[in-house]
Amino acid sequence: MSNKTINPFEMVVSQIDAVCDRLNIEDVYRLRLERCERELTVNFPVKMDDGTVKLFTGFRIQHNDTRGPAKGGIRYHPDVTLDETRALAAWMTLKAAVANIPYGGAKGAVICNPKLMSQTELERLTRRYTAEISILIGPESDIPAPDVGTNPQIMAWIMDTYSMTKGYSIPAVVTGKPIEIGGSKGRFEATGRGCMISANLAARQKRMSLDGATVVVQGVGNVGSAAAKLLVREGCRVIAVSDSKGGVHNSKGLDMESLLNYKKETGSVVDFNGADTITNVELLALTCDILIPAAIECQITASNAAQVKAKIVVEGANGPTTPEADKILHDNGVLVIPDVLANTGGVIVSYFEWVQNLEFFFWDEEEINGRLQKIMTNAFAEVSEISKADKTDMRSAAHMLAIKRLVSAMSIRGIYP
Ligand code: NAD
Repeated sequence: MSNKTINPFEMVVSQIDAVCDRLNIEDVYRLRLERCERELTVNFPVKMDDGTVKLFTGFRIQHNDTRGPAKGGIRYHPDVTLDETRALAAWMTLKAAVANIPYGGAKGAVICNPKLMSQTELERLTRRYTAEISILIGPESDIPAPDVGTNPQIMAWIMDTYSMTKGYSIPAVVTGKPIEIGGSKGRFEATGRGCMISANLAARQKRMSLDGATVVVQGVGNVGSAAAKLLVREGCRVIAVSDSKGGVHNSKGLDMESLLNYKKETGSVVDFNGADTITNVELLALTCDILIPAAIECQITASNAAQVKAKIVVEGANGPTTPEADKILHDNGVLVIPDVLANTGGVIVSYFEWVQNLEFFFWDEEEINGRLQKIMTNAFAEVSEISKADKTDMRSAAHMLAIKRLVSAMSIRGIYP
């Protein structure tokens, strides 16, 4: 998307390759993890409000479903590519395995600019895309969810369209839905809550307190804004945030409530009263305790990693750090909590939503947040243990944990026929 020189799928393949070398994984498993199992490209027409018809291209990729149904969000973005969608699907496989929830990985995307489309155009695009990918999705096979550019309303249209083709309501076909049609309490802020839990555990590992810690968030969308608000409740001071148009900084701390209201009214955080305007490049180089990249891939690269002054990086986004940047951060003593661990809150509560839909029985928010905390704390402890035992960074440790689980599952299932 933004960084055209880096291919996110090549990035995830190189991450998997490095861990397979380290673990001496047989080629047959390595190759299966470095390719996507199923790839569907769809080209479909949508009637626009002015009466014209436009052709859109979309994808649905299932990376690996050995451990359970494929699971992963849908991205609407003008620059999204097939390789980016493949990479996001692969990270979903790894993420579900790190959290040890019974899912494989998938991802979907439509090349479009939702910010320039009306609600009725978005609804027609979503319904047609759902029909196009309905040969893959379903509550037992592949369950979409929100990602960049999509939201609970879009999930509702997916659920409705899929249900219409079957003749009865099937809430479990998609997660991240509005509560009124089977969504789960706690899902909207789950990924941000997971980032807060990860930041807390990372701070403990660094023998730091969250009380008074300074936080910088790149990308205050669904994930970034929830993480920022929850970290403020833990006593942190959010000193800078950004969106695709730029960022704002105030070393005394930003009032997140008014800032998010301002963003809702104006469409951006830029020019928020009582803060200096900064660029996204400047934001990543600010002195702070915790940096949360929560926008898109490939933001911390070989060219800016040395400028990162944060003590802890909590990856709210998928793939925000390139492998070269990872090494620089590690050598500089920055503790990076990788995407496949830090942002698992979303898929974990999506899993809870799906279970509640399949059982037609709903849990209260306390139970959901308690279970999320437990799964994330266990996963964090398992990854930390591998990291210490193998003297490696948290990303390699998380990938080692995931790949061991995946290879074990592939080997037990065997090869059909
Ligand atoms: P979103 O669309 O709600 O928010 C994205 C934010 O990033 C927006 O504020 C946007 O303006 C900003 N942004 C985009 N490009 C930017 C850039 N170059 N620099 C700075 N800001 C930029 O999306 P989201 O759902 O919050 O997802 C954010 C990231 O988190 C993505 O990488 C996504 O894959 C990942 N993620 C999301 C979920 C989820 O539950 N939504 C779960 C796991 C991971």
